[in-house]
Amino acid sequence: MKEIYKICICGKCGKTYVLINDKVEDTIKKGKYISCSHCGSQRAVKENETSDLRKCMDHSSYKKVRGAIRQVRQE
Ligand SMILES: [Zn+2]
Repeated sequence: MKEIYKICICGKCGKTYVLINDKVEDTIKKGKYISCSHCGSQRAVKENETSDLRKCMDHSSYKKVRGAIRQVRQE
């Protein structure tokens, strides 16, 4: 099954951000692009995909993704 979240690391500023896979696909299908939430760079490196953001909390990037997790849960 497809994972819900896509975790990306910016190729420019190195910060981590979390995107929703479905929305990313929709955006790219419409000819638009994904960019870093922090610096706006389009150079995103995919780190991981997951359906359970809690798994990320065991990861060393937990502090970096915590802000993004809050945003996702408000939706
Ligand atoms: Zn960035």
